[in-house]
Amino acid sequence: MSANLLDGKAIAADLRNSIKTEVEAITTSGQRPPGLAVILVGDNPASQVYVRNKQKACEEVGFLSELIRLDPDTSQEHLLSLIDDLNHREEIDGILVQLPLPEQIDEETVIERILPTKDVDGFHPYNMGRLVLRMPLLRPCTPKGIMTLLERTGVELAGKDAVIIGQSNIVGRPMALELLMARCTITVCHSKTKDLEDKIRGADILVAAVGRPNFVQGSWVKPGAVVIDVGINRLDNGKLCGDVDFEAVREVADWITPVPGGVGPMTIATLLENTLQAAKLHQVS
Ligand code: NAP
Repeated sequence: MSANLLDGKAIAADLRNSIKTEVEAITTSGQRPPGLAVILVGDNPASQVYVRNKQKACEEVGFLSELIRLDPDTSQEHLLSLIDDLNHREEIDGILVQLPLPEQIDEETVIERILPTKDVDGFHPYNMGRLVLRMPLLRPCTPKGIMTLLERTGVELAGKDAVIIGQSNIVGRPMALELLMARCTITVCHSKTKDLEDKIRGADILVAAVGRPNFVQGSWVKPGAVVIDVGINRLDNGKLCGDVDFEAVREVADWITPVPGGVGPMTIATLLENTLQAAKLHQVS
């Protein structure tokens, strides 16, 4: 039997529509629209595409959107002073520094400089710490978007065994915290994990964030599992594929996300959701 498709493209479109409606209500009441500033340092081709998509999404829902492009040899001091300016600007609710940054700039220092209530990526230690303590404020976009996808399956999460492959700061770790908060029992795997396949076979909920094309095999997946594929890998033929062998795994799982059209669009829609949330925080304070 073939798994149900968890259609991130359609669910993200619903989310964007409801954000657009809220923004219309905000501006009709005479308040300013939410504002997002995106900083792109250098000319990494993948980053240029991500930034363009984020800007387009902002414009569609009626946000103020500002793109700041900086030379690849920009100094850390210059970037930090730009962030200080944006932290002070009232019409800017969210600041996103597109990663990766050139090697002369330290990512952690830059992320920590962003005002936590403007940290719409949710990567600041303040926001990560709040997630650890089960009092989330701005939550990392990809894991939060995955929680929205999981909600749409109607599958009860409490008590389920969840396995996450990958322990990065932007996906694996916050994903584990989200699923723990939903009262799953979690296992986080990485490149040093023993008996990986056996651990994956125990998963009711499987999140693959490895960065290796078609890594998860059909025979590793528990029948009836919910499989979330975070991976974005470009093959030699130019096509995109995920970290899960989609054709094989869809025969075993109950739910599966496609690549493209699964987690990717949810990440961007969740960035908009976070920016709206930040705007509400700023307008009441
Ligand atoms: P990352 O920082 O490179 O982390 C990859 C993780 O996979 C690491 O924890 C690594 O283990 C683990 N790993 C590598 N090989 C493994 C193996 N053979 N067995 C078990 N674990 C293994 O990557 P990331 O930033 O989390 O991204 C992961 C993927 O998701 C990439 O394809 C990325 O493009 C994609 N992504 C998509 C979105 C989206 O919106 N759809 C957002 C972010 C990322 P170690 O820690 O031991 O090295």
